[in-house]
Amino acid sequence: MCITPSPHPSPLRGAREFILRCVAGVVAFVVRIMAVAFLALCFAGCKPRGYPEAKWLGPAGEGNCAATNGPRQIDLIILHTTETSAASARDIFKTAKRGVSAHYLVTTNGQVWQFVEDDRVAYHAGNLDFNRRSIGIELEGWADGRGEERNFAWQTEEQRDALVRLIGWLCDKHGIAKSRAHIIGHNQVPSTEASADGRPWWGGKSQHHDPGARWDWTELMRQLNRAPEFLKVVVQSKADILTMPNPDAPRICSAQPGDEFQAYAEHDGFALVVLKRPADAQPLKEAGNHHWDGWIAASAVRVLPAERRGAK
Ligand SMILES: [Zn+2]
Repeated sequence: MCITPSPHPSPLRGAREFILRCVAGVVAFVVRIMAVAFLALCFAGCKPRGYPEAKWLGPAGEGNCAATNGPRQIDLIILHTTETSAASARDIFKTAKRGVSAHYLVTTNGQVWQFVEDDRVAYHAGNLDFNRRSIGIELEGWADGRGEERNFAWQTEEQRDALVRLIGWLCDKHGIAKSRAHIIGHNQVPSTEASADGRPWWGGKSQHHDPGARWDWTELMRQLNRAPEFLKVVVQSKADILTMPNPDAPRICSAQPGDEFQAYAEHDGFALVVLKRPADAQPLKEAGNHHWDGWIAASAVRVLPAERRGAK
């Protein structure tokens, strides 16, 4: 009689295999959970830190922005116009070595796109010092109007509302004052070019004048709950009108005794006046109404009390 092994495992062996299978299943499950958690953490770490309502379309191409050593001190928001469609601007920012980008772009239909994280430096102002201390926002728009007919229909309510929300968030997040001394146009940035007497020209390296003389700063400040109060001032002594409330800022033009202006803000001993006169010519820019407003020493002007006004 021949004895052959039983084809059925013993009950003890079956139980051992069952336990091993269970342990293997639990281990595989734990490994899977850990992998998912790791990927989620990695994704969260890579996610850009910035305005939550923005659509992240970054990063900008290599050579169009730069990292910093540690957190940045941001005290300026600088507004631009793209001078091309939002899609074209996006393509330029995404192309490596174009040397240009912005943190945010606000389209005419009110979308906010982000290309550079707030704690990185975007190359938008044509002035490294101003790039390092600022957030750059491009408006899908044209400083002198679009096309031959100089169309300003790009300035939509949706765009302005989205811009106001973005600026409000940035000011709260980075501790930037909601003031025209801290929310400025590209046209206010000193150029790397200087006049014969050493004063810098304005508009950054290429002397840009965006967002343009038709950009309504007073409406923007009103929507930021900083509605300006207008005062009529008369110039007492010859003085320069400057791009920023700072004696070293670029000169836009000069003012003579007796000249009258509407003033709507004050900062550090300077008054911000509405300009409706040609700015000085610059090497890359002819004289013209490229500016909307500028700062004059408060000591050089006198307020005309009878002319207090509540509107533009
Ligand atoms: Zn610009």
